[in-house]
Amino acid sequence: MSYFVIDFEVTNLNRYIVVDLETTGNRPDIDKIIQVGAVLIEDHEIKDVFSSFVYTDREIPPFLQELTGITPEKLKDAPTIEEVMLKLLPMLEGSIFVAHNAVFDIAFIQNTLEDLGYMPFSGLIIDTLQLSRILLPMAQSYKLELIADELEISLDRPHRADEDSMATAKLLLQLLAQLNEMPLVYLQRLHQLAQSNNQDLSFIIEDIIAKKLNNYQENDDRFMIINQLALLMTEEEYQENQEYEFDQIQFESMFDENGLLFNNFPNFELRPAQKGMSNEVWNAFLDQTHLMVEAGTGTGKSLAYLIPSVFWTKQQNEKIVIATHTINLQEQLFQRDIPLLKKILPFDFSATILKGRSNYLCLRKFEQHLMQVNQINLSIDGMTDLGQVLTWVTLTKTGDVEEINLSQTGRSLWNEISSDPDSCLNHMCPWFRSCFYHRARQRAQTADLIITNHSLLLTNLKADNRILPGFNYLVIDEAHQFEEVATKHLGFELNQYQFSYFIQKYYKDGKTGFLVKAMNDFYQSQDPDQFVIANKIKNNVIPLISKVESNIQDYFNLLGEFVDQFVKNQDSNRKTLRIVERVKQRKEWEKIQEQAENIIIDLTEWANLMEDIIQQLRNLEVEESLLVDFTGYLKEIREVSLTFSEWNHANDLNMVFWVETVIKRKKIFSYLFAAPIEVGSFVKEFLFDKLDSVILTSATLSVNGSFNYASNWFGFDSKDEELRKIKLPSPFNYKEQALVCIPKDIPNIQEVSEERYIEHLAKNIADIAISLNGRTLVLFTSHQMLQKTYDLLKIILEPYQIKVLGHGIDSNSRSKLTKRFISDKQTILLGTNSFWEGVDVPGESLSALVIVRLPFTPPNHPIHEAKTERLRAKRKNPFMELSVPQAVVRFKQGFGRLIRTQKDKGVVIVFDKRIVESRYGKAFINSLPDVDIKYQQFTKLLQNINDWIN
Ligand code: SF4
Repeated sequence: MSYFVIDFEVTNLNRYIVVDLETTGNRPDIDKIIQVGAVLIEDHEIKDVFSSFVYTDREIPPFLQELTGITPEKLKDAPTIEEVMLKLLPMLEGSIFVAHNAVFDIAFIQNTLEDLGYMPFSGLIIDTLQLSRILLPMAQSYKLELIADELEISLDRPHRADEDSMATAKLLLQLLAQLNEMPLVYLQRLHQLAQSNNQDLSFIIEDIIAKKLNNYQENDDRFMIINQLALLMTEEEYQENQEYEFDQIQFESMFDENGLLFNNFPNFELRPAQKGMSNEVWNAFLDQTHLMVEAGTGTGKSLAYLIPSVFWTKQQNEKIVIATHTINLQEQLFQRDIPLLKKILPFDFSATILKGRSNYLCLRKFEQHLMQVNQINLSIDGMTDLGQVLTWVTLTKTGDVEEINLSQTGRSLWNEISSDPDSCLNHMCPWFRSCFYHRARQRAQTADLIITNHSLLLTNLKADNRILPGFNYLVIDEAHQFEEVATKHLGFELNQYQFSYFIQKYYKDGKTGFLVKAMNDFYQSQDPDQFVIANKIKNNVIPLISKVESNIQDYFNLLGEFVDQFVKNQDSNRKTLRIVERVKQRKEWEKIQEQAENIIIDLTEWANLMEDIIQQLRNLEVEESLLVDFTGYLKEIREVSLTFSEWNHANDLNMVFWVETVIKRKKIFSYLFAAPIEVGSFVKEFLFDKLDSVILTSATLSVNGSFNYASNWFGFDSKDEELRKIKLPSPFNYKEQALVCIPKDIPNIQEVSEERYIEHLAKNIADIAISLNGRTLVLFTSHQMLQKTYDLLKIILEPYQIKVLGHGIDSNSRSKLTKRFISDKQTILLGTNSFWEGVDVPGESLSALVIVRLPFTPPNHPIHEAKTERLRAKRKNPFMELSVPQAVVRFKQGFGRLIRTQKDKGVVIVFDKRIVESRYGKAFINSLPDVDIKYQQFTKLLQNINDWIN
């Protein structure tokens, strides 16, 4: 076949053709182009625009017609691909090809060129998806429409080639402008990364570097350059202790009419419960006692504890730690409430966020990683991940991983470059003064308020209080979560992925990994002693690691098969097995234990070899950082060995041990867990008994008017006077704002088949959604039931144009689903676990909240089972003392999703008759705010719902 020859050679690195294609599918060998959009950029300006539909006789799948709005009708009179390419080719000639996710578009272009008898495109290719990842590390998403939205690039009609190509062109211009703005050392580092992957991007960077060098100016004073890394200049705000005249202002008056809040914020509402809570917090500090406050939704509890905390810290010169469960709340305190108080208070105070150490980047490890790039060929993902972190390191003030939008592979990279105590050189580190973690700790040392999370608080306890600066006053918000976090934190988890990551950190494919790098460095050192160590790694350590790796694989295979055989009465894809005597007595278990013992012996041998190497290194003149790395890794190997051994013996009577298996791609994956059965005594001894005052607060702490259940989480018994307890009502008028409905005719799930139950449920939910035109949130306790109900709802609601969104189906991201639910009112959202407490939908988007089942924890969950046994041994009733209160707290959280502001109005429909018909149902009803309850036939209820809402 002869080819038409086109000169694709790039002569001008400032000429780009930005292309977007709509096609009939994803396969360039089969599918056809149906729309082409192209934008020509020269010298940073848009010079030409082209777009055309393309005729095809190939069928366009309905979902693509819906997505793109391109129907066969639209293409009927469109030009053929040959005619379209004739117009596109002059733009392609001599240009750099650009597209968002370029592999897709270029594959179609190459195929078409070949079909039409042209030579393939051979010019440079730039992918704006990859470039956005690298240059915009803090963007929320890299999907074209979302990133366009974030950068204020208009894109009214996504998935249309004309609009998408224009948005991509504007995105490219912004990305190039940013690249030009970056400091020279950054560009040189990025260039090195791009070259290691033979990326066309390297030519663009090279061109920018050359121009920068030609017009080289004095240092960019936004950055400081350390070891060829550019870091943003930041000024630490150290708070000087000033004397304030506190008599001028009393914190009690803050919440009054004509108080500082009232006078400064026009929307400030006077809320007696908020003022009451604030006084209680102050008094607890004053009396040095502990306080548990349940403050209903809308109380404004964060200001109610922040204000007395700020006054107390300044008056008493005492540090106060505030621990939350969610990052959202931390951000809200730090970004919204604290700046607000700083604005209105006549005195200053300092506050900082301190997170767990692994949230911060270790600059030393990152630099080491960059240095390895010279020795290996990076994959595209590897290059993009490192480039993304490199940009972020240049731009971040905090080094907190929360800021960066890492990919899946980026998260693995993070594990290798995050700060950890075992590999830290502390003061001896050349990066110490710039170190993100140590700077954050330094800020915490001097701050009046430290905002942190439950996990770090617990890590601090486990580390004998060596992480947080000393403090005597503590506020725990979202306290209803604390027991669960403590249970996880004081236990452990091991799984196949962790093991394989653990091995690969040392040795991967014979090319990378800490030990491979160390071995190569020793060989290259020309020092005979280091040569001996290199040989030891090569001949003894690496073969041992390979053996451990293969034995671990065998161990997990044996374990997975055992669980699969042993557990019969559970969902075949997900199984849980608690390790109890009955299991341990099985012959197969003995075999599994033996296999584990062999691994532990090899891990010990590996640790011994590492110890020998460390001894040898100590006698040589090697860098201290190398010794610290070896010592850190030795500690890790010993810890893994110990933890695995603990799990394998599973004989600590205060712990519960279990394995969970999941079948993915026909393979069984196993996860090993261990958790303490009870955490209260630990928490009480190491937290409450040591501190002057701890404030515990949440909207859901009491059950049926009593705090006994929540007090137990923290190690207090009901009569303990050390813990003061108060319940403050929500300022919302629930009688006027909410109605609770319970359908009388919903079948009992135990009495009908699951199919029949779900059919009935889906039909009723659909009726509610139709009558409210969407605006419904449905909370499930099982994902399987959610999936089945979702399928039916999709069919029933399609003619009514009501969208159905399912958690784990349309997206795994709660925040993305919630955003879609809020932006399109004609929607019904189905959620499981995290939706019971993490969703905040004020206003009209949420009018009906459906609770499908009362949220009881499955009785066979290992922790629940172990707690139940303990209660039974104490002659207590586990159902009434554990199952019911646990479900009530969760139910209250779910209920709390409905009314978020004083203007909200809506209904809660509970499709579980146990709430009225069972003896324990009262505990649920009595735990709700004062609200009307209707227990009627569904048709009658539907009428009531309509009347109520309208
Ligand atoms: S001080 Fe420690 S955590 Fe910080 S950069 Fe150095 S080694 Fe890493």
